[in-house]
Amino acid sequence: MKALNILKKNKLLVLVTLVYGIIFIAAPQTAMKSVGNSVYYLVEMLQVLPVIFLLTVVIEAWVPKELIMRGFGEKSGFKGNLLSLLLGSISAGPIYAAFPISKSLLSKGASVRNIVIILSSWAVIKLPMLANEAKFLGVDFMIVRWILTVICIFVMAYLTAIVVKKKDMPGTALKKQTDVFSIKEEYCIGCGLCAEILPEYYGMKNNKACVKASPDNKEAVKAVLESVQKCPTKAIIFEKAMKGEIS
Ligand code: SF4
Repeated sequence: MKALNILKKNKLLVLVTLVYGIIFIAAPQTAMKSVGNSVYYLVEMLQVLPVIFLLTVVIEAWVPKELIMRGFGEKSGFKGNLLSLLLGSISAGPIYAAFPISKSLLSKGASVRNIVIILSSWAVIKLPMLANEAKFLGVDFMIVRWILTVICIFVMAYLTAIVVKKKDMPGTALKKQTDVFSIKEEYCIGCGLCAEILPEYYGMKNNKACVKASPDNKEAVKAVLESVQKCPTKAIIFEKAMKGEIS
């Protein structure tokens, strides 16, 4: 039963192994070539992915959400589109490396439209690619292809943003308010002030404050913000990003 569950969870891997098995029986030499190619790409991924994961961690931990929203968010407008085009064009590395970075940017507030632009320009109009293209196929060819590709990228980005909504994408839904409304227990001295002034949002448990509910309207947010200020040890966390979204 456990083995069946593991197989179900790794359907793609099972399918690829099956295909490999069939090719090995039918055409062993072709199968060996496939194994060689797979090993090549595996090694390439192992070289690239650690750097990419490091970069995504840096984006998650160090780049402020406000900065991403300003540069690549819904309200960044055409300037944001151009910035995305530039980011995708000057990027390095294979396209699969772009996906974890795109996911980080999305979760930090980048728009679907700009993510499509980054991914598409990363895939087909990277600067090193353009330089090689000009060398082998001529500057005219490169320029015409670049212009037509950019037009297509923009059309694709705007259409995708109409069809695909951010909330439907995995791992990009807004955090629940409780995720950013919490008490730092190690700082709380259990004075009970928060629970006294806002009993609907704070409670006391084992001499420490706890969050009972999240504010869900503008007035409640204002009251919670005031309680954050009044806490003598600054133990209440109520993050700025959520304040902005509610108000
Ligand atoms: S006001 Fe601050 S220190 Fe006092 S109980 Fe509430 S969270 Fe703890």
